[in-house]
Amino acid sequence: MTMEACQACEAIAVSERVEPCVVERSGKSLTIQDRRMVCAECGNVSYQGSQISEHELAVANAIREMDGLLSAAELNAIRLKYRLRQADMEQILSTGPKTWTRWERGKVPQSKVADRYIRALARDPYLARREMLAAGVANPEAEAVFAQIEIDDRRRAHAVMRDALAGC
Ligand SMILES: [Zn+2]
Repeated sequence: MTMEACQACEAIAVSERVEPCVVERSGKSLTIQDRRMVCAECGNVSYQGSQISEHELAVANAIREMDGLLSAAELNAIRLKYRLRQADMEQILSTGPKTWTRWERGKVPQSKVADRYIRALARDPYLARREMLAAGVANPEAEAVFAQIEIDDRRRAHAVMRDALAGC
């Protein structure tokens, strides 16, 4: 194992270790496994290179789990279900630019309020369509998805009605 010089005590005693790291959130805590640089002499801990983004991602995932939030993959699936773009979601949610992009990339967890709203949009395509139009989002692909959902729902309703009438 190659040792590196410590930034704190200058000993050539720093190597990569996998260690538990406790993430705390509103009275709860969750332990993640961190890949990080540790000095065997003074115990100084640092993160470098890919360890930094791995740590950020693991912390964000732990917060999502403790807060009961949708995962980054679920956010992606909801957006793609309606064929909306990341910028569309930012416009619908009235967030700053790149906010949804960061949520979907996983390193930044969405707020609980945003999470509840996103779940409502996922459950109800009619609400999602209204919110898209209200936000001034022009997206023909998403509009086509919503129009198809409406056509399918009408067909299903007509079929139910036909079956009911056939029984008379
Ligand atoms: Zn040291």
